[in-house]
Amino acid sequence: MTSYVLPPAAPVTLAVAGTPTLFPVNRVFCIGRNYAWSASEPRPTEMPAWFMKPASAVVPAAGPLPYPPQTTEFCHEIELVVAIGLGGRDIDAAQAPQHIWGYAAGLDLTRRDLQQQAKRAGGPWEPAKAFDHSAPCTPLVPAAAIGHPRQGTVWLAVNGVQRQRADIADLLWPVAELVAMLSRSVALLPGDLLYTGTPAGVGPLQPGDRLTGGVTGIGDFSMTVTSEPT
Ligand code: MN
Repeated sequence: MTSYVLPPAAPVTLAVAGTPTLFPVNRVFCIGRNYAWSASEPRPTEMPAWFMKPASAVVPAAGPLPYPPQTTEFCHEIELVVAIGLGGRDIDAAQAPQHIWGYAAGLDLTRRDLQQQAKRAGGPWEPAKAFDHSAPCTPLVPAAAIGHPRQGTVWLAVNGVQRQRADIADLLWPVAELVAMLSRSVALLPGDLLYTGTPAGVGPLQPGDRLTGGVTGIGDFSMTVTSEPT
């Protein structure tokens, strides 16, 4: 029998909407710019950049959201989240749907000041992106129940005022292309999450702010920024 020198970390899980079952989270991949942020922007010809967050950054998108340390520019990014059920490498975009277990709405929370600093210095993005509680996510909705949505409003409001609003159909690189792209770079594994990029309107949060958002037909959430870590 294996004996560990420390208790192994408990698996990170997300709820499956409307069921008592859990989705085990493996890794978290995030896509860089994947919506046009202005009408004049030419469509990019190169695939977007990607980066990662630890699975431990994933928390249910509900209740308190602690304001993180070492930032004065804590920003929201609402995103469609894709959950991988079947791993693979060199996946064809046409085959991507069979690798997708389900969908959710998530936040790619960002310490924007640290990200700008990293961009200037050519440094890594982890301090800006991979902090505790930085990837809240709603319960997952299985593709078996809703199919593979090509439309749906991606929205976020702060204190009831809309900040971000776009549609899944506006993704510059659609979900299937993103799955194909990533799988050429790393072998995807069951349990991986893919945050697909955020629309225009990202902005800072303050303690006490009430954050609401979601993806129509997939899930929505409400969280309140707290000043104390919880
Ligand atoms: Mn993002």
